Amino acid sequence: MTQAPRYFALIPAAGVGARMGATSPKQYLKIGGKPMLRHTLDAFLSSELIAHTFVVVSPDDPYIDAVAPNHGVTILRCGGASRMESVRNGLAVLASTLSRADWVLVHDAARPGLTAELIEKLITGTGDHPAGGLLALPVVDTVKRGIDGEAAGTVPRSGLWLAQTPQMFRYELLRDALAAATDPDSITDDASAVEALGLSPKLVEGHPRNLKVTLPDDIRIAEMYLAVSQPEFV
Ligand code: C5P
Repeated sequence: MTQAPRYFALIPAAGVGARMGATSPKQYLKIGGKPMLRHTLDAFLSSELIAHTFVVVSPDDPYIDAVAPNHGVTILRCGGASRMESVRNGLAVLASTLSRADWVLVHDAARPGLTAELIEKLITGTGDHPAGGLLALPVVDTVKRGIDGEAAGTVPRSGLWLAQTPQMFRYELLRDALAAATDPDSITDDASAVEALGLSPKLVEGHPRNLKVTLPDDIRIAEMYLAVSQPEFV
């Protein structure tokens, strides 16, 4: 008898958020009065499809204990020097907990606009795709290649997508793809490591509310989305 698939969330949250220029790491900045990371964790806790959520933080992170809920989330203090290393370290710690065929949904802590509906859309849209899948947005703007502050050319936008997270893969595939990746700085998402193996993950249309909070103004935009009831956005 085949076992029903299990879905786990893995949230790398060991970054410092240098571009935000704040005194604490950006995942702990408050959005609508609640730490960004807590919004992110709550999205997974509100999904009935997720078996358990793991969050990767730096070994000396002083904030996480006050932010993570007591149930449903396990803190892994194994963050690395890059996002890729943090994910890789988290997967290594989970080697005896997850089976090779379990699905892992990797999601950036700095995307607090995720909803249970988007999680379900990703899981349903990816189905049993052999290369996994990711949320992404089709590019709608005209894309320019800039050289020295001038538009040196226009890149055809047809077929271009902006990658979001979560990105979901079978445990074994993700572990092997990240193990094979040699340049941590060039791997800014998990799908690129899987693509480097010659595989093509499924693109599932996400939503602008799932923006990555990077610059100070993004906090206001995230607050705007979080103030609006969620289901109408999917
Ligand atoms: O900095 P950026 O927004 O691209 O980071 C994406 C995600 O990766 C964030 O959730 C951040 O906390 C995480 N990260 C990490 N370990 C690092 C760097 C970033 O877990 N060394």
